Amino acid sequence: MSLLTSPIKFEHITKEHGFVQVQCQCCQVIERATRLDTHPMSWLYAANHIGWRHVASEAFDIDVVCPDCVSLFNNPRQKPYKPAMRNAI
Ligand SMILES: [Zn+2]
Repeated sequence: MSLLTSPIKFEHITKEHGFVQVQCQCCQVIERATRLDTHPMSWLYAANHIGWRHVASEAFDIDVVCPDCVSLFNNPRQKPYKPAMRNAI
């Protein structure tokens, strides 16, 4: 199975109570800005920078995938790192 990843698009940056956020369409995790003045464009840039991707293959096409799910797609047999451990690496 070939996997195609590309940066996520601006249209997938949404707002919740005034805070910009992006939501993984795979595991539903939400990454939300902690400041009200975070610009959606900066948030898009930051999300792409830490590994959020649009993932597509012959079998599926997911617009927004968080870094954890992207690594699962790339290494299906590897267990995902727990958030606390990921910070230590
Ligand atoms: Zn995810």
